[in-house]
Order: sequence, then structure tokens, then C-alpha cells
Amino acid sequence: MAAPDRRAPAAVPWVAMYHSVGHCAEDPYRVTVTPERLEKQLRWLRRRGLRGVSVAELLAARARGEGHDLVGLTFDDGYADFLTGALPVLRRTGCTATLFVLPGRLGGDNAWDPLGPRKSLLTADGIRRAADEGVEIGSHGLTHLDLTTADDLTLKAETVESRTRLAGLLGAEPDGFCYPYGTIDRRAVDAVREAGYVYACAIDPGPLNGVHALPRVHVGEKDNSPRLYLKYRLHRLRRRPVEGLR
Ligand SMILES: [Zn+2]
Repeated sequence: MAAPDRRAPAAVPWVAMYHSVGHCAEDPYRVTVTPERLEKQLRWLRRRGLRGVSVAELLAARARGEGHDLVGLTFDDGYADFLTGALPVLRRTGCTATLFVLPGRLGGDNAWDPLGPRKSLLTADGIRRAADEGVEIGSHGLTHLDLTTADDLTLKAETVESRTRLAGLLGAEPDGFCYPYGTIDRRAVDAVREAGYVYACAIDPGPLNGVHALPRVHVGEKDNSPRLYLKYRLHRLRRRPVEGLR
């Protein structure tokens, strides 16, 4: 029997979680990074021989046993500032990303965060513009509900109908789902899988860890190079491997 290859890294893909990219004086939910900070973080990755890509690209590469130089970049909620704040930085740094949008709130705002400043969400046109630039579009549900508290009908709408609406908007069904608030239970994970999503992003999935409950790391405005390095190292030490990925 061949000895295990000790150089092979554990199959724990690193997926960074962002939300809004812009300048925001007041940010009680820590959901905003400035474009300048984002650019520093992505350039830091590049200097380490890593590159930010969409989750679909990351998982496809890892399923082939490749892509150990890839890091998933995700932007939740589909803020309008993605086009002006994030996209130019992604372009300049040679990165791509996944944008998780809410087809039930097109052109609306983040009404689910009552204490934070209002932030506009992308319209259908804005989402198509991001997709045209090579950004992967995934579903964040219809309206940003905690799926663990949703009744059966609502759970179905948030998972199945959001997928159908995005297919209508983009011409293809999205592969990815992202749990609002990162809250999950077995029922929510099953509903997402049954709706046909290929993968789903959580935050700290615990025992539900898997391709339909991928862990992610919050990356914020305070994350300079040393902090980013620590988060990167800790993630690899603390997270469980995801089955099916190498
Ligand atoms: Zn969200």
C-alpha cells in the first residue's frame, strides 16, 4: 500500500465571505469593506501565490484534485456597490467571485438589518452586468429569511423559487446557494440539495459540514495582512475536510 502523500493539503477549501464594498461611516453589522482594503487583501493573496475565484470554479478544481492555489471569494446579499466597489478590484487583481443575490428584493434594500444604514441592492440589470463580467451568480434565497425558522411553503419558495427566478434572469440555473445569516439545520440543507443546487455556503456548519454546507471565513475592513494570514492558517487547522474534495 502506498504511503499517504504528506504534502497533500487537507481538503478544506478556503472561502472568504464579504458583503458590501464601499465607503460607509457607520457599519454595526461589519458588512462593509472599502475597495482599497479589498484590493490590499486580494493582492496579499496573489503575493502568496493564491488567487480568488468563484466557489463553482474552486469546487470544480478541487474535485479534480487541483486548485490548491485557489481561494473562494463570496459577496452576500447582492449590494449595488458590487459593480462600483468590488468589480473593478476583482478585474485589477485577476480574480473572480460568487455573488449571492436575493431575487425577491431586486432593486430593494437591506431591510432585514434594521440597525444598519440602508444599502441598495442590485436590480436585475445590475445582476446581469455582473454575470456578463464573469461573476458567478448564486441564490441567497428570495428575501433573506432564516431558513431554520421558515415553514414548509416558505422554505420551498426561498430555495426552489429563488432558483427558478434566477434561471429566468440569467438563462441558466444557478449552481450555488448561500444560507441567510449562515443559520442551518438538517431540514434547510436537505431543501437546498433537493432544489437542485450543486453546493451551498454556510459560515460555521458544524456537523452538517459538506458540499451543501461549506464553511466560510468573514473577512472585514480590519483584516490587514497579519490578521488575514492568521485567519487563513486557523481555518486550515480548525475546519473539517469536505467529502468529495481533494
Ligand atoms: Zn445575507
